[in-house]
Amino acid sequence: MGEKEKNRSLRGLPSVDAVLREPALEQEAALHSPALVAGAARDVLAALRSEILSFEGAAPGAVSMEGIVARVKEEVATLVSTGAVRVVNASGTVLHTNIGRAVLAKEAIDAVLLAASGNTDLEFDLSTGERGERDARVEALLKRLTGAEAACVVNNNAAAVLITLNTLAEGREVVVSRGELIEIGGSFRLPEIIVKSGCLLKEVGTTNRTHERDYESATGPQTALLFKAHTSNYRVVGFTTSVGLGRLAEIAAANGLPVVEDLGSGSLANLFPGRDGEPTVAQSLANGASVVTFSGDKLLGGPQAGLICGKKELVDRIRKNPLKRALRADKMTLAALEATLRLYLNMDTVTSRVPALRYLTRPLDEVEEAARKACALMKKAFGDGFTVEVVDSKAVAGAGALPGRSIPSKAVAVSHASAGPDKLFAAFLSNRPAILGRVHDGRFLIDMRAIDDPADVVPADLGSRLAGE
Ligand SMILES: *Cc1c(COP(=O)(O)O)cnc(C)c1O
Repeated sequence: MGEKEKNRSLRGLPSVDAVLREPALEQEAALHSPALVAGAARDVLAALRSEILSFEGAAPGAVSMEGIVARVKEEVATLVSTGAVRVVNASGTVLHTNIGRAVLAKEAIDAVLLAASGNTDLEFDLSTGERGERDARVEALLKRLTGAEAACVVNNNAAAVLITLNTLAEGREVVVSRGELIEIGGSFRLPEIIVKSGCLLKEVGTTNRTHERDYESATGPQTALLFKAHTSNYRVVGFTTSVGLGRLAEIAAANGLPVVEDLGSGSLANLFPGRDGEPTVAQSLANGASVVTFSGDKLLGGPQAGLICGKKELVDRIRKNPLKRALRADKMTLAALEATLRLYLNMDTVTSRVPALRYLTRPLDEVEEAARKACALMKKAFGDGFTVEVVDSKAVAGAGALPGRSIPSKAVAVSHASAGPDKLFAAFLSNRPAILGRVHDGRFLIDMRAIDDPADVVPADLGSRLAGE
């Protein structure tokens, strides 16, 4: 398109005022806010201007007022109506990071409501009328549950690692095995966090084998601490050697250094004892870790948070780091965390009361029963062309917890005479609430391990949803 035509198109655009005088937009303004609609009109006209200027092909048709009004309305609708959409987790990944990991226990939800709907004694001591300690209640619970001397809380485990390293090792070396230089989804890369903490990374060993002598010879005047990272989302198998936490703690102690362990998930309950289980926080501390860090919303089953447990002298230093103020958890998180931790005071009931633990440990026949019910409901609800059947499935903990371990599960396999598994996947997602299944081996599966109510996985009008694709 030539300069002339472009100029003609630009001149043809209406003014903001003219657009706002359109009856449909006057209605919008009365419904929402005049300023909102005016802002949207300005944005749409600016976008049209730059579209015309950058247009390379044939001249675009004249921009109609109708088209502009429709775009402004769309812009307004996006802003006023877009909220988070509920997602039913039938993916078989119990702690799915992209949909918000752990579902909170009822007690935690109640605590969030209380904290959100008024003021609380968040960091105010009601017995003295003076300022209190923000993490005090969570700390008391964590000490009881893990045997730690002290504990504090930040926003997530990445922040916990950052502040721990910055406090204990700024300007000095952090010794880590090359087999543990992890990357977790969502761009948590341990080597980068170490550098951002102001520390120097001292890699030792090789990808598959790291020996005691590697740590011993790397330790010198520049060393601040020995670091162990839980290899959350992968396993090194085959010809491998690593140094266990106990031995690492001995090497550290002989050199007067602390050992920090990033546990990732940091289970508080011994869910799956044995080779495939996650080490518990208490075990890690008992095995000699000076400080451990872990997430609040992985196997713990609480809100997003980073928990730091360990020796009092070290945790006190972490607490005093100015970064603590920058990374502190908010009142709703603390309320949910505290309520979740309180459920762990009774280990007999915690697996039934914390949803993440319930989903991970519920017996297979209970999952199968839910799958049968969902299957029956689907048979009733879906029209011709659909086939549904209960099949074996494999669930995983997710979020880097219990790597390599799959949990037997049951799923409803849904198929359709003419729509493939990807179409079904999309059609279930287009339901409200969205239903997140998974495609596996060419089949569309609705995994029932993390589903409480079978009715939740039955979309409305699936037939017409598919037809509308
Ligand atoms: C998940 C994980 C992290 C990051 O924790 P967030 O709470 O997501 O910030 C760090 N280290 C390990 C080993 C992990 O598994």
